[in-house]
Amino acid sequence: MQKYDVIVVGAGPSGCIAAKYAAKAGASTLIVEKDAEIGVPVQCAGLISKRAIEESELKDVKAFINKELKGAIVRSHSYELKIQSPDKTAFAIRRDVFDRALAEDALKAGAEIIMSSRIKKLNRGVGGEELTLAAGDSKEELKATVVIGADGVRSKIAKMAGLSVARHLLSCVQVECEYEAVDAFAEIFIGRNIAPGFFAWAIPLGAEEVARIGLCIDKRCSRHPNPLRFLKAFLAEHPEMAERYKGTRTGFTAGAIPIATGLHRRMHGLSTVRVFKGNGVLLVGDAAAQVKPITGGGVYYGLKCGKIAGKIAAEACLSNDMGVLRDYETGWRKEIGAEIAFGLKVHRLRCILKDSDFDTICRVLSQEQMLQQIAKQGDMDYQACIFRNFLKNHELIKLAARNIIRYLYAKRRLGN
Ligand SMILES: Cc1cc2nc3c(=O)[nH]c(=O)nc-3n(C[C@H](O)[C@H](O)[C@H](O)COP(=O)(O)OP(=O)(O)OC[C@H]3O[C@@H](n4cnc5c(N)ncnc54)[C@H](O)[C@@H]3O)c2cc1C
Repeated sequence: MQKYDVIVVGAGPSGCIAAKYAAKAGASTLIVEKDAEIGVPVQCAGLISKRAIEESELKDVKAFINKELKGAIVRSHSYELKIQSPDKTAFAIRRDVFDRALAEDALKAGAEIIMSSRIKKLNRGVGGEELTLAAGDSKEELKATVVIGADGVRSKIAKMAGLSVARHLLSCVQVECEYEAVDAFAEIFIGRNIAPGFFAWAIPLGAEEVARIGLCIDKRCSRHPNPLRFLKAFLAEHPEMAERYKGTRTGFTAGAIPIATGLHRRMHGLSTVRVFKGNGVLLVGDAAAQVKPITGGGVYYGLKCGKIAGKIAAEACLSNDMGVLRDYETGWRKEIGAEIAFGLKVHRLRCILKDSDFDTICRVLSQEQMLQQIAKQGDMDYQACIFRNFLKNHELIKLAARNIIRYLYAKRRLGN
């Protein structure tokens, strides 16, 4: 029976960086991954910030960057908002190459990895000092003092450890296709008929006229539960798509994005940490719903929280004090808790707004003064500041006031 200080379940970005930090701090560390290949299948649009690339600590960035983006175009029903990024701050990346590089970094730091092994059981040992994990049908068991559940949006580790991270899942679909993109701009399409409760996107890739086109829906505010139905209609009927979409190249990807719910009420609860006598469990990344509710981006937060989880797990093992694990919850919430809580309010507002409201928002934000403000304060990873400032505009205040009753009512329905 193999024993480790820390076992990380899942070799996505959050798990790999957690393992790297645990190993670097001196803990014997193992990553267990259910798939045969890291980063495959890709379930991501691959849009990340320069800050996220820096957070990854990867050196050979050219290996995974598809395209540097110049900004974004947000399209509502009747308006178009073009946001130029003053500096190259956003990138389309190849997630498979990115994830593999993160795994290699974890191995270089001293972690080990087992592939094609799905963790199905997590038990407390007889003496309580270790957690036992069993992978698939394998008779071999693994023992760990701390388990880090980095096993994604449908985390088994969370369930088996009795942790309930309050969240709701958005349903997403995406295709890689031939598309006449607008220079190097990411495009965002908003509208209740396009993607209720979220948005559709077109992310240009390195090669000429290739893009990732996809969308997410929040089923709680959609008449139809199937996002594929919306994607088909979007590709066939949207005026921009009719002109520029040239046909799908590769099969489609389906996935889910976790949106935390009721985070403000859980601010002091320990929903991502379980401390037992002599051992414990932490959740990180999508497993902990550490995702930006406004855009669904989870790579940057996963990397940030993965580092905290890895360091704290190692510290708990090396000091033989499992109480230290509680610092993880306070640590990650200090970094991104307020951002997520604010993002949930914006998401709730998005769920109740009409297409005419989205038009008003795009028209107001297209004004020169607002564009300058966006250029100065806009930030893919920390959006609360710029969104708060939008609410100082009198037209947007009026829009918010008009919708206040529906917004408050939606609180109960959406739970955040
Ligand atoms: C369609 C779509 C588009 C997206 N676009 C973006 C984007 O543009 N930018 C962005 O930042 N984010 C995006 N995201 C979100 C982003 O993909 C996730 O937030 C990110 O992958 C989370 O990383 P993670 O390491 O927490 O989990 P994952 O990347 O999901 O990794 C979890 C790993 O755990 C493994 N695993 C699961 N269960 C077990 C088990 N029982 N035993 C062993 N291994 C297991 C899985 O095989 C997987 O390798 C998108 C998501 C979707 C669905």
